[in-house]
Amino acid sequence: MSRLPLVAGNWKMNKTVPESLELAAAIRAGAPGQSGEVEVVLLPPFTSLWPVAERLEDSGIVLGAQDIYWEAAGAYTGEVSPTMVAGWCRYALIGHSERRRLFGETDEAVNRKVHAALAHGLRPMVAVGESLEENEAGETETVLTRQVTAAVAGLDEEQGLELVVAYEPVWAIGTGRTATPEHAEASCGLIRRLLAGALGASIAQSVRILYGGSVTAESSASQMAQPNVDGALVGGASLVAEDFLAIVRAATTAEASAI
Ligand code: PEP
Repeated sequence: MSRLPLVAGNWKMNKTVPESLELAAAIRAGAPGQSGEVEVVLLPPFTSLWPVAERLEDSGIVLGAQDIYWEAAGAYTGEVSPTMVAGWCRYALIGHSERRRLFGETDEAVNRKVHAALAHGLRPMVAVGESLEENEAGETETVLTRQVTAAVAGLDEEQGLELVVAYEPVWAIGTGRTATPEHAEASCGLIRRLLAGALGASIAQSVRILYGGSVTAESSASQMAQPNVDGALVGGASLVAEDFLAIVRAATTAEASAI
């Protein structure tokens, strides 16, 4: 089954509005446009979503929110609701390891956010992955099973089709230590089997599973050439237009070589 490769750039808490506009314009200038070969998603900070959306109009590049809260409105100081971003975003990143580790986000909260995203027309991009200690203790499979099962609990098949999962081993994020293609494939293959168990085999076959963690153009080409790796979630390298665009180009090459 062929799945459209997806490359997403998570800008995290970086870039003022003018800086965001500059970066978005540079990415737009070098991106493959509406080629249909790769889906390019940018996840700027909330403050930049609207201006960047205008800058990317008709470019084929789509936006995602870096997080959302599960309520639609109310007394939740500092939070941003799905309804506030749904106008500009196709995706909502949910359960990034920085949210889990630094802000105490639980598996239950991830599941609530997944449901909230879907209820407001956003496609959930759910991040999962084991820590260094868990990896060294041989617990990768246990952790991924717990995180994926919890994230998709209560979804029906139609909702499952909207899902994207990003496998991001915590030990690889921002460390310069990326996973081998074999490790990425083993984990992404496991995630697909877990999705098949929860949502059915045919839904699982259509879900895009991304690899993330110190992705570069060089490493991503061999990772994305793996049968169960359908793209990349990029952190640091997405802040430099040329580096990000090189990963976007690698995705189209990996797709061509996998056919
Ligand atoms: C991320 O945080 O999603 C990520 C993959 O970061 P980096 O590419 O910087 O490791």
